[in-house]
Amino acid sequence: MAAPKVAVVGAGVIGLSTALCIAETCPGCSVTVLSEQFSPNTTSDVAAGMLIPHTYPGTPIHVQKQWFKETFAYLFAISNSAEASEAGIHLVSGWQVFKNTPKEELPFWSDVVLGFRPMSKAELQKFPQHRFGQAFTTLKCDCPPYLLWLEKRLKATGVQMYTRKVADLWELHSEYNGVVNCAGIGARQLVGDEKLFPIRGQVLKVHAPWVKNFIRDGDGLTYIYPGIHRVTLGGTREKESWSLSPDPGTTKDIFDRCCTLEPSLRGAQDIEVKVGLRPSRQHVRLQREVLSQGGVQLPVVHNYGHGAGGFSVHRGTAKEAARLVGECIAALQGSSSRAKL
Ligand code: FAD
Repeated sequence: MAAPKVAVVGAGVIGLSTALCIAETCPGCSVTVLSEQFSPNTTSDVAAGMLIPHTYPGTPIHVQKQWFKETFAYLFAISNSAEASEAGIHLVSGWQVFKNTPKEELPFWSDVVLGFRPMSKAELQKFPQHRFGQAFTTLKCDCPPYLLWLEKRLKATGVQMYTRKVADLWELHSEYNGVVNCAGIGARQLVGDEKLFPIRGQVLKVHAPWVKNFIRDGDGLTYIYPGIHRVTLGGTREKESWSLSPDPGTTKDIFDRCCTLEPSLRGAQDIEVKVGLRPSRQHVRLQREVLSQGGVQLPVVHNYGHGAGGFSVHRGTAKEAARLVGECIAALQGSSSRAKL
């Protein structure tokens, strides 16, 4: 069989990292990324990019932990290399604070991030409305630079990238031997998945270079995440809202909530407002499927539905998707050699 041709649909963090994992693990494959939008016009560009996992209720915790561990290890290695600044990856220390002590004082990811410990009384004095807190060091991706870095790596490994809206995965069957669906919220229309829904998020990106530590309210709604150049202030979680227009009332509310946590933010400048739709599901859809029409088959691997945690687990899910692609190719090669006999 000639070099198998694989199309990856989607150029957010999931599509680009999946294409890279396929190119790395299957050097004989020809990989192409097809996407309606590329950076800076994806949901992934809007994200804060903090490595603090979201919990998927429908996925076993040990699987989520493995995805997070693999992603953390991958980005930690980048943060320790000369690529760190170009890739937009850096370590950041800070606090997650709670108004009441949470039921689960040790989240499943506490031994993956660095130096996880309860906050001291002296540290908690900074947050008079909060009674409990966790201090740790994690990683943050500055999302647009990270996406561009992934694109650069893909080009260097010979992956082609084209702007194209795919209306139906079947339309790719005559050009490709296999397809990977990384369409994020676009998968709802692309494969008719009604279990996938948007959770709208609005964030502010501000200039406040004196803010060096992250602060996250344990309810996950209010957060301050310093990046290399800008600080992300959040946020909102609006289920089933498809609006991509910034809401001025929400901007003021986010800013006020963040200033309550970190009063010095009143001096922040150059406020930019961004909105994105988290591709949400009970669990990430990471599985093989075979489409078939008139005796012709098209193997598909789905990798979408990462909701509020796509950056935190992207490398782990990309590796698993690449493994599934490898299985599809082995099955194709097996059937083509049987056909020759
Ligand atoms: P996307 O980035 O949306 O990419 C989907 C791609 O598919 C796009 O390129 C699109 O053009 C393409 N596409 C769609 N349909 C088609 C089609 N029919 N044909 C061709 N192409 C198609 N996660 C974290 O881990 N940490 C955080 O701190 C964090 N903060 C966030 C803050 C906000 C405000 C938001 C909105 C999200 C945040 N997230 C965070 C979540 C994270 O952004 C998502 O989980 C992640 O970006 C999903 O990536 P994706 O590649 O699946 O989707």
